[in-house]
Amino acid sequence: MPPMRTRFAPSPTGALHVGGVRTALFSQLMARRSQGSFLLRIEDTDRKRSEDRYIDGILDGLRWLGIDWDEGPFFQTQRSDLYRDAIGKLVASGSAYPCSCTPEELEKHREEAKAAGTRTSYDRHCRPGVGPGPIEGRPTSIRMAAPLEGEVVFYDEIKGRIAFAAEEIEDFVIARSDGTPTYQLVVAVDDADMEITHVVRGDDHVNNTPKQILIYQALGLEPPAFAHLPLVLGKDKKRLSKRHGAASVLEYRDLGYYPDALVNFLARLGWSHGDQEIFTRDELVEKFAIDDVNPAAGVFDAEKLDWLNAQYLRARSPDELAADLRAFAAREGTELRGDAAWQARMVSTLRERVATLRELLDSARYYLEDDLVFDDAAVKKLLTPDAAPLLEALIARLEGLHSWNVEDLEAAFRAVADAHDQKLGKLAQPVRVAVTGGKQSPGIFEVLDVLGRDRTLARLRTGVETCRG
Ligand code: GLU
Repeated sequence: MPPMRTRFAPSPTGALHVGGVRTALFSQLMARRSQGSFLLRIEDTDRKRSEDRYIDGILDGLRWLGIDWDEGPFFQTQRSDLYRDAIGKLVASGSAYPCSCTPEELEKHREEAKAAGTRTSYDRHCRPGVGPGPIEGRPTSIRMAAPLEGEVVFYDEIKGRIAFAAEEIEDFVIARSDGTPTYQLVVAVDDADMEITHVVRGDDHVNNTPKQILIYQALGLEPPAFAHLPLVLGKDKKRLSKRHGAASVLEYRDLGYYPDALVNFLARLGWSHGDQEIFTRDELVEKFAIDDVNPAAGVFDAEKLDWLNAQYLRARSPDELAADLRAFAAREGTELRGDAAWQARMVSTLRERVATLRELLDSARYYLEDDLVFDDAAVKKLLTPDAAPLLEALIARLEGLHSWNVEDLEAAFRAVADAHDQKLGKLAQPVRVAVTGGKQSPGIFEVLDVLGRDRTLARLRTGVETCRG
């Protein structure tokens, strides 16, 4: 396989979202698999809409996900000379021409074209040999002279053969009247200059491809191969939007997802390899092939992402998971209580019950803090006057315990329940509310074991007071 040169070319006009990251990932995997290079190019020519904070978000998002690039980031605003030269060449060779039509005139053509039902709106008024030509003294934009007949054809790596008839391609603008180049021009010039072999991008760009091919041809350059990725849709089959989940990939970091899990999830969005669900990065590099991408839209399934993330979370050892949680909390400016060994015991009790680090941190609250958040209904139902003697008996027993471990705690609970002729649950449920604040928790003996004697007893004593009202 010859080394491929691929690129990711985001416009910094918004947050980096999952669809964009999938494009970046597929491009990067193609480059890695072929031992080629992956480039990052920031398409910041739209100065009004481009913002530095979006550039930072793109770089941070890709770095967080480990989608690293070999060259760049390049910035189009720093490459104006290259574009100016290309525009000069295109005009000199007659492939492009100045157009003096005003916005009002263009609007008029648009209306007329719409009424006549033609596929393109510009009437080629200023094109030499076709229309009357530009009007002297007016500012001019530059337009490509698109073919008047025939078709422009390319073979998409995912969609197969795509043909555009000449009537579908208008004489599009490559430089505005202020001299600034348009997207069609800069993308073709840059892809050629950066020797990109495979352009991977969203299929909202399919209609731009014939225009860019015309620019390559007019400049005497070989067009790259193209792969247009189908859209990512929500489960309701509507275009993915904020309603379906986080808008920016960095929100997934803040929600406590693992970058490896998100990458694995995105790779599987529209691509498959047998029925394998979990892929290491190396396996992705080894197995990914762009022609295995499904031409139908990929569906974003948030539950599946949670499932995948839970698999990654459970694959961590307790020590690793505790370290992950410490780092996650530290990003929010919180330092976890206790030492690393205690934190590892804490997360071992919770890991099977959560999908993300955020859930893990939230569910660890009663371990980490002493001001419990009580579930009022549970308190009312379980911390009742008749629970008080049971809790008191338990307190007395626990005070006398020589060792504090799951087995001895369980024996103490059983002894108290038996002595009061009660089922274990009758004791365990009020204890759970008194110690954790609610009715759901890991096994109560594990919880008390991690919590330790002093904190357990303090909470049980408060529990007795609550029972007595
Ligand atoms: N800058 C374009 C975008 O953000 C991408 C263009 C391309 O990949 O050719 O949609």
